[in-house]
Amino acid sequence: MTTQDHYKTLGVEPGATLKQIKKQYRELAKKHHPDANRGDKKSEEFFKTISAAYTVLMDKRKRLAYDRSRTATGSRRPRRGASHGKGYREYRDPYGYGPDDGRRDWRQEEPRTGFYEEAPVDPGMPTQGFDLNLMIDVPFVTAMLGGKVAYAYDKYVNCAACQGTGGANGDCRACKGKRQIITPVATEVDIPPGVADRFTLRIRKQGGEGRNGGPPGDLLLQVCILPHPRFKRVKDDILTEVEISPRLAEAGGPLTVQALDSTQTVHVEDGTITGEEVRIAGQGAAIRWGKKRGDLIVKFRVTDE
Ligand SMILES: [Zn+2]
Repeated sequence: MTTQDHYKTLGVEPGATLKQIKKQYRELAKKHHPDANRGDKKSEEFFKTISAAYTVLMDKRKRLAYDRSRTATGSRRPRRGASHGKGYREYRDPYGYGPDDGRRDWRQEEPRTGFYEEAPVDPGMPTQGFDLNLMIDVPFVTAMLGGKVAYAYDKYVNCAACQGTGGANGDCRACKGKRQIITPVATEVDIPPGVADRFTLRIRKQGGEGRNGGPPGDLLLQVCILPHPRFKRVKDDILTEVEISPRLAEAGGPLTVQALDSTQTVHVEDGTITGEEVRIAGQGAAIRWGKKRGDLIVKFRVTDE
């Protein structure tokens, strides 16, 4: 069993300031947040590791204790299996480091003074919640004309059981002392009319909840427009291909076609051949999130029969 080096995990120097630790953690957490890496076990594991490291290093008391245990075990780690003094078995791992059969009980060490020279880290300090980077599938017609899309995701909220304190000794059962828990959220997202594929919508304050009254993060949703069997987008216009019989192509006549949000009647000219098209003004996609719309282009394909 190996002990996790919290500093190495976060990629910071042991003397790093809280600010540096926080910055590094946020960067890593953004990248490896389970919400952004659904199903990726490695990311999930790594996220747990960096969260554990951060939980210790951002808390003055825990960090001090950790630093002590770290220096104590660094070069003089007792061999595995060595017998421990009386009372070792009662050691309850109050700071959640996880089991480590080689670690010395730091409480038996002499307290050091002046060891911690940085400004005290205040675990009660308000901190902003995470921004969540996710994707949203948007049906084609909704993307072209705007509308609402139901959306479900998970986010961090403050643990209700301990009111986000982690419990008196960091022993809240609901959040395991992490002060926040992941909770599912169901919402509706406004899709702007004519939104571009891969555009990122920023939904303010719908990200992870802040701690200690800090502001929540944002929800960033990258739009993924689902393809449509009948329609294709060409800038602000919508292209649709319709089959016509050789008889209609030759004689000409009216034809009903499906538009984005209506049915339209077009006139097929006599002698129409495959590839010819007609335009219906104002039946295309919304232009630049506004009310104006492009055209519907109806392209004919004359069937064999
Ligand atoms: Zn809790």
